[in-house]
Amino acid sequence: MLNRRQFVCAAAGSAVFARAADVLAAGPNYDLVIKGGRVIDPSLRLDAVRDVAIAGGRIAAVEADIAAGAAQTIDARGKLVVPGLIDIHTHAARVKDGPTLCLADGVTGFIDAGSQGADRIQEPIAIVKSAPQPARVLVNIGREGILPGGDTMDIKRADVGAARDAIAKNRDVVAGVKARLSRDVAGANDYEVLRRAQEVTTSFNLPVMIHMGQTMSPLPKIMDLLKPGDIVTHMFAPPPNSIIDETGNILPEVLAARRRGVWFDLGNGRTGHLRWDIVERVMKAGFWPDTFSTDWTPEARTNQVFDFPNVMSKFLDFGMTLDQVIARATLNASRVFDVFHDRGTLNVGAPADIAVLELRQGSFEFLDNFEGKRTGRQRLFPIRTILGGKPVPPRA
Ligand SMILES: [Zn+2]
Repeated sequence: MLNRRQFVCAAAGSAVFARAADVLAAGPNYDLVIKGGRVIDPSLRLDAVRDVAIAGGRIAAVEADIAAGAAQTIDARGKLVVPGLIDIHTHAARVKDGPTLCLADGVTGFIDAGSQGADRIQEPIAIVKSAPQPARVLVNIGREGILPGGDTMDIKRADVGAARDAIAKNRDVVAGVKARLSRDVAGANDYEVLRRAQEVTTSFNLPVMIHMGQTMSPLPKIMDLLKPGDIVTHMFAPPPNSIIDETGNILPEVLAARRRGVWFDLGNGRTGHLRWDIVERVMKAGFWPDTFSTDWTPEARTNQVFDFPNVMSKFLDFGMTLDQVIARATLNASRVFDVFHDRGTLNVGAPADIAVLELRQGSFEFLDNFEGKRTGRQRLFPIRTILGGKPVPPRA
């Protein structure tokens, strides 16, 4: 028989033992720890070697040395660990495997920018809804979408009622309107097309993304129609109607647009949007892009674009630091569309969307859209993507 004193001691001892057993039974503390990478997160002003721990699909800790156990670890020594990339101008919803292909490149959020108009909006919507990562579509103001002969060459195709209807029926996935304004797309209708796109968006409080460059109307006239939150893509398009004049000055209307909250986006693409001499002059004038984007298509995977990290790398050559380049593909992009409001960061509690990249040194050829080549000494490569805390298969 135990006396009272002995009983208390025994009880206390078994309680201690029980607590230790609970911890052992519970197993590791984290689902995943990414060990030893150089973590660059502009949202946290962080650039240092850190471990990143994930639990329940969210960032649980970003610390120098996380000793606690994990069900899975990824060795990221010698690699960069950054928030998942957000690509605000793609055509990833044009093909069924588009979202998965982009995901393997580190893209954990994307916008399909106007691949379809109102008539066939269900096609990109179906792909976006089945995409593994968060994604939205912009409805092309041309109701038949992208047409070889020009989306809105016939102004009747810029159908306000049809676009409004497409948005009203799909508020959960349509995040704005795309208006392609080049002379080979809209001809002399560019200004009226944009006016109609604004007529559609203002009632829904959604942005318009314009595809600028080689327009019939002067750019200042087009800029004046843009409201805060709208996006100008292909900002490095060469003349006619570039954002910079012959003397190297950014047009005052372009500066005014940025001041009132219009975003300026890269939109790499493959035809007519990007020319090195314009990039050089615009960057020298200090008018840096707010966001980077690929204008991704399946064809672009093997020509000029390749992948989002490659597009980002082009700007390491124009005076941007690694941190500044990453900000434009993460933090900045997260501010442009509501769907990404809690992304683009490794802040504790955020969804665990992460891109593991490698910065390789060497000699790399970067292309513009005019067969212009530049050689850079550094290039980012996609290595591993983590979406909602789960590693996804690397690029084939
Ligand atoms: Zn595009």
